[in-house]
Amino acid sequence: MPYLEVSGLTKRYRAEAGVFGLSLALERGRILALLGPSGSGKTTTLRLLGGFEVPDDGRILVDGEDVTRLRPEARRFGMVFQHYALFPHLDVGENVAFGLEALGIGGPELRERVAEALALVDLAGFERRRVAELSGGQQQRVALARALAPRPRVLLLDEPLSNLDPALRERTRRELRRLIRRVGITTVIVTHEQEEAFDLGDVIALLERGRLVQVGPPEDLYTRPAAAFVAGFVGRASVLEVELVDGGRGPPTRVRVGGVLWDLPVSPVPGRRARLYIRPEAIELVPPAPGLLAGRVADRRYTGAQAYFLIATAAGEIEVLAAPDAARVDTEIGLRPGRSGFHLFPLEAP
Ligand code: ADP
Ligand code: MG
Repeated sequence: MPYLEVSGLTKRYRAEAGVFGLSLALERGRILALLGPSGSGKTTTLRLLGGFEVPDDGRILVDGEDVTRLRPEARRFGMVFQHYALFPHLDVGENVAFGLEALGIGGPELRERVAEALALVDLAGFERRRVAELSGGQQQRVALARALAPRPRVLLLDEPLSNLDPALRERTRRELRRLIRRVGITTVIVTHEQEEAFDLGDVIALLERGRLVQVGPPEDLYTRPAAAFVAGFVGRASVLEVELVDGGRGPPTRVRVGGVLWDLPVSPVPGRRARLYIRPEAIELVPPAPGLLAGRVADRRYTGAQAYFLIATAAGEIEVLAAPDAARVDTEIGLRPGRSGFHLFPLEAP
């Protein structure tokens, strides 16, 4: 049985603004990443889960218990807000003690629990430090310790890394993942960055305009996007308009791309024309030859073991990931489609 179960969760602010009929289920100890562009309803969803917002409709169950109408404290969830919201006039220990005191815990047990929570985030002995003395990463860990100290049933995190500079961010992300795993706490984390969601989430829930577009493990979203929005938001892709040639029952499906025919490992979609998403690793760069899509290497971005090539073709620009020496800028090259990394969607109505 799922530990956290959400069904039909709805909060209407305006048309297209809010959260509409959100349903998902999460096993105990797993991490769900709520992913989506700005304004897609991530924070609203988290606030509904935490009880800081009252839904118009829907239910939230934790371990079989309906918490939909419970006040935030009664849910026993831990929450870390985007801006940590640490109390600057309190020291680290007092910050972490905050939620425990609200539970009526005091004396030696309070000191023990604070020490335990600080040890959990690798800040043992930091009780008397002032919040302002700490680095951004340390403040983030204090906020986590404060949320974890009352031993919450579910941990809610709203863009917890967005205040950190990029260099610190990746390291903190790794630490955060290790910490959540070690504690074994069921976690919902909000992010607008795909890489962060993939790195942290066992399960990704992708939102668009308040609606859940797809939920599943990162691999599912990348390799089997349920909608064009998913293919465009998750991972890199070049998008071309192509012509479907014989309307068969593929895969393979035959499409015309810039005057050549490709038999692609995708199912056909309704209509004569369609939108093709091409992952950078889906194309092989080869010497130009008859029958192959040809292009000119417009740009090359070196990343170390591999490079991204931008190829200008008759069908449009296509980004290709290949060995750094696979092609030189301003030369002609052939593009051969591989066996995976293509997604075909109907052209949306304008
Ligand atoms: P995200 O966290 O994904 O950026 P939010 O959940 O904050 O998105 O917001 C989703 C939409 O709901 C936005 O259009 C936002 O303007 C709107 N919204 C959020 N909170 C409120 C509120 N309290 N009152 C009215 N509209 C709101
Ligand atoms: Mg937000």
